Amino acid sequence: MDTILFLKEGIEFELSSKKEKGKVKFYFQNFPSELFSIEEAENILRTVFIQEDKGEFYKFVGNKQSKLLHVYSSNHLPDWEFRENFVDLVEATKLGYQQCPICFKKLPVIMDYETELSLGMEVAAVVRYYYPVVIVDEPQKRLREIGEKVINCWPLPLKGYSYKFTLIESDGINAIACPAGEIFVTSGLLNSVESDEELEMVLAHEITHVEQRHGYNQYKNAQAMAAAAQVIAIFAGSAGKQTNSSDIVYIISSVARNIVLAGYSRDNEREADAVAILYSEKNTSDGKRKFLLLLKKLKYLQDFYGETKFKLFASHPDLEKRINALQKSQFAFLNPLEKFDGLDKEGNVVASLELLYEMLYETKLTLVANLATTSNLNKKVKLDTRDRNWLSLKTEKTKYDLDLRDEAEIDIDDSTTIIFEMSGNQLISPTINKLSFDFSNVKNWVKSTKEE
Ligand SMILES: [Zn+2]
Ligand SMILES: [Zn+2]
Repeated sequence: MDTILFLKEGIEFELSSKKEKGKVKFYFQNFPSELFSIEEAENILRTVFIQEDKGEFYKFVGNKQSKLLHVYSSNHLPDWEFRENFVDLVEATKLGYQQCPICFKKLPVIMDYETELSLGMEVAAVVRYYYPVVIVDEPQKRLREIGEKVINCWPLPLKGYSYKFTLIESDGINAIACPAGEIFVTSGLLNSVESDEELEMVLAHEITHVEQRHGYNQYKNAQAMAAAAQVIAIFAGSAGKQTNSSDIVYIISSVARNIVLAGYSRDNEREADAVAILYSEKNTSDGKRKFLLLLKKLKYLQDFYGETKFKLFASHPDLEKRINALQKSQFAFLNPLEKFDGLDKEGNVVASLELLYEMLYETKLTLVANLATTSNLNKKVKLDTRDRNWLSLKTEKTKYDLDLRDEAEIDIDDSTTIIFEMSGNQLISPTINKLSFDFSNVKNWVKSTKEE
């Protein structure tokens, strides 16, 4: 098989096997000249049919004008005269090409992202059902710009969600985070914040709900309960049906409604407040005082207007309790962010555990960490709260043992937030020298020296 003839009306191949030899003709109705030049088509066909490596198979197309790099198969390639083709990414990057955000849109490396996305869309649909989107450009733009600023200044590693900030029409002082990244803010809330900084803290709180997958976790809990209910039904002999897709749709829609109407749990709200404060402390200063001031102002408005105006950002849980709890709490980033790599017995990296921040409330210390796995993890792992002494940390002077607070599941090439707890008020940000954490095929944990 070695001849390809380009004819005016099509392409002729000569194909041969051990026994036979023959010609095949392909005719174009219309040669897609906006996609390929004849030479490129020939190269592709040679690569596919003849498997000779002479023809370079271009995967990327650069736009010489904009210096943006697109994937060859995308539907928005530049005009012929501005194209520059590339076989590999490195070459294009060397020449100063930037990746097109549409072609190279990175999906977050997160287990079951699709479910989370559906849940997010459902929550957004419920919100849009109740509230019209503000159609005036200017405040919409302000919200978007400040939202982007918060993302750009985010003090912790981001999971990769794509965020969208939408202003909705309502006097109520509300904000709501949809799983997977859409964040709604009411005009009532936007009018109540007195500075960009206050709005940043509100958004930092909401972004935390997304980053820590609070909505998705609610879904997982509901699903587990539904599965348990089904098992009970089977044992009771009443129904033998398996979970089917309509049950999943039902669970998603009921969880979505619950998020809109009841919000997230008290623990989740506390975590979100903590990050809002840490965000503000990192990017300006005095974050805790500023955040408390904001909540107190909202509390005043709430007392003045009554409960009905307050559903989400401001009232769940009770504002008074929330302010009191924050006053009694201390927050700190692990400084610097401590990252440890878990190695298997051959020394391959199986997982990395990044310790992010601590919250000390009365005498309970909560440590929030991110666990990411590689393809060297040998199987999906379920982290169970009943196993004792999950994490032990050694500083220069002290050893701490922490328990896992919530159950978690992690797959190969996955990442998840995990939360540890201990009683006793210590730790708030000393340097951690050693870490041990019983996890799958990890033999030992070493402090990562690589910079992000
Ligand atoms: Zn593109
Ligand atoms: Zn919240």
